[in-house]
Amino acid sequence: MKQGDGSMGGNKPRPGFPAKLVTHSTGPLRKTPLAPAVRPAGPPAVLGRAPAATTIQPVKGRVASGFGTGSQAVRADMVRKLEAQGVSHRGVLAAMLAIERHRFVDSALANQAYEDTSLPIGLGQTISKPNVVARMLSLLFERESVNLGRVLEIGTGCGYQAALLSHLSREVYSIERLRGLHDKARENLRFFRLANLHLLFGDGMPGFAKGAPYSGIIAAAGGEAIPEAWTDQLAVGGRLVAPAVMASGQQHLVVIDKTVRGLERKELEPVLFVPLKSGIA
Ligand code: SAH
Repeated sequence: MKQGDGSMGGNKPRPGFPAKLVTHSTGPLRKTPLAPAVRPAGPPAVLGRAPAATTIQPVKGRVASGFGTGSQAVRADMVRKLEAQGVSHRGVLAAMLAIERHRFVDSALANQAYEDTSLPIGLGQTISKPNVVARMLSLLFERESVNLGRVLEIGTGCGYQAALLSHLSREVYSIERLRGLHDKARENLRFFRLANLHLLFGDGMPGFAKGAPYSGIIAAAGGEAIPEAWTDQLAVGGRLVAPAVMASGQQHLVVIDKTVRGLERKELEPVLFVPLKSGIA
């Protein structure tokens, strides 16, 4: 298992249809073929040079598994278990109650979607177990300021955590380096119509300067060090949550706060995330 215990994770009214999931063609990020192009509605700071944007039509009546509308009770049970395990962030719990996790995994695995387990999402990657997602999001959104600002996610994967982030913050940019997963996430997320969520295909190592500064940055993949570009792109008052490998060779969860005095770094519990890799594939 590549990502066991380690890995990641306000209810407010959702924006209406149509959703705009934006793919940018600038910087290190590659444009994916999308049709038809429409005028993007996001903030001008990140929609500068010739971005490609699409209006994604919802897939009517799509049911990703046998859950259908009955999944609410199973999700409520998952949330109760998370609370029993010590998760107390009301916004995170509300988001996890709202977002249907079974829509992000293959239908053959849907019956395990609400168990506290990580699951394969294809191309050797995994979706973190709910407990770890909740832990990371609780850390990220501990500070109210993050809630109100822009958030950058490195490692979209299947898009589950991106959907949660969209519930918890004003604007979300999520980068994925594997085209297959970027496409899959876009497909999974279509159902949810999340107008404040922008999916990017590219290498997340240099961050995404056009959206900076970010109130929050979260990574679902861990490298030797946390790229300097990420802390550079963090706003003062912002927080970064990511796994990183320590001198011992063990991966730990790291929290970095950017303050007026500089960066304040805390190393927390050991985790086991998939590796942070350079380049795209
Ligand atoms: N949050 C995701 C978890 C995905 S696992 C979810 O909810 O499904 C981590 C992801 O990080 C993988 O999809 C992996 O391809 C991606 N990743 C690793 N290195 C990356 C990089 N440099 N830039 C962007 N994505 C990266």
